[in-house]
Amino acid sequence: MIDIEKIRADFPILKREVNGKPLIYFDNAATSQTPQVVINAIVDYYSRYNANIHRGVHTLSQEATDAYEVARKKVQQHFSAKNDYEIILTAGTTHAINIVATGFTSFLAKDDEIIVSAMEHHSNIVPWQMLCERTGATLKVIPMTEQGVLKTDVYENLLSSKTKLVFVNHVSNALGTVNPIEFIIEKAHAVGAAVLIDGAQATPHIKPDVQALDVDFYVASAHKLCGPTGVGLLYGKEDWLNKLPPYQGGGDMIDQVSFEKTTYAGLPFKFEAGTPNICGGIAFGVALDYLNEIGYENIGAYENELLIYATERLKEIDGLRIYGEADEKTAVISFNVGNIHPYDIGTIVDKLGVAVRTGHHCAQPIMDFYKIPGTVRASFAFYNTKEEIDVFVDAVKRAVMMLS
Ligand SMILES: *Cc1c(COP(=O)(O)O)cnc(C)c1O
Repeated sequence: MIDIEKIRADFPILKREVNGKPLIYFDNAATSQTPQVVINAIVDYYSRYNANIHRGVHTLSQEATDAYEVARKKVQQHFSAKNDYEIILTAGTTHAINIVATGFTSFLAKDDEIIVSAMEHHSNIVPWQMLCERTGATLKVIPMTEQGVLKTDVYENLLSSKTKLVFVNHVSNALGTVNPIEFIIEKAHAVGAAVLIDGAQATPHIKPDVQALDVDFYVASAHKLCGPTGVGLLYGKEDWLNKLPPYQGGGDMIDQVSFEKTTYAGLPFKFEAGTPNICGGIAFGVALDYLNEIGYENIGAYENELLIYATERLKEIDGLRIYGEADEKTAVISFNVGNIHPYDIGTIVDKLGVAVRTGHHCAQPIMDFYKIPGTVRASFAFYNTKEEIDVFVDAVKRAVMMLS
């Protein structure tokens, strides 16, 4: 069960007003809000033990190093990774994907193929296109249905011995669809392909077990998990991380350096060149503790209630169409009303204190598929309420009245 009063009190930002109205924050798919415990961890770091890690013998450096490595262990446990050195702390999902996409350059030849899905975020399309340009490999796309569900039969036909890598998001940020990643991973492995799953949108709602999934790489961002921006993770199976070349050269990622030859540090440091987001990493660990204390089952069940309620209420509005109607979806609703431009609805509801996202949500191919310029997207978190949804639905109704 969610104790909503208690939870809302954890988030100072929820007390503020926007345009003279109480803030209603429905842009959780873009970034989540930050609970006081995470803010405290950031203040504590800079107030008490700000120092560079893995280098100094002095007390502050050791405290910071210990806290950073404790955070890595928390991430490891959260994702059920076998070893803590299989967790690379990155600047976020995009950075993590680029480590893998760049590293695969040396593994691909001209006739090889990479498969991605039709519902990817731009950060998941562009690095693969760049990889194909470098290597001459071909990019194949798993199409989707009108409901926003991947066509798994087509996927099976796309797979062959040429397939070297499959890349799919666990949950689509634009549609909320939960993709059948177990099936996708199993079929890819059957032809010897590696799989990278983008969990940026799934991890606020679902706690993945990377060992049970048998996934080769899994990535996510802390800022969608009640943590700070600029930090995230790349999970990789030990074998893959050993094979993959380093992404950036610099301090902290080396073993021995001379002008003749440099040898690299072992995992995870090989992929962590330079001074990382130390405070961010530590706060990420605290954010995961916070989410686990509430419990993912509670979060999932409560958000699903919000999703069902909001879907029903929005359907009261004439001419409203929802994009993404998969049976299994997270608390994201993308919609348009008639021919009204999503931006206009977004602007009016903001005047009424409601923050939603409008536009293509970094997923232009999805918008092209539906032949629309964009959508209004409301995305909910466990600190939102049905009362807020009521205010939001009234705000959309008012916007529609003004605009049609
Ligand atoms: C947010 C998001 C990303 C990008 O994450 P960054 O934190 O901006 O790197 C990638 N994929 C999906 C599905 C997302 O929702």
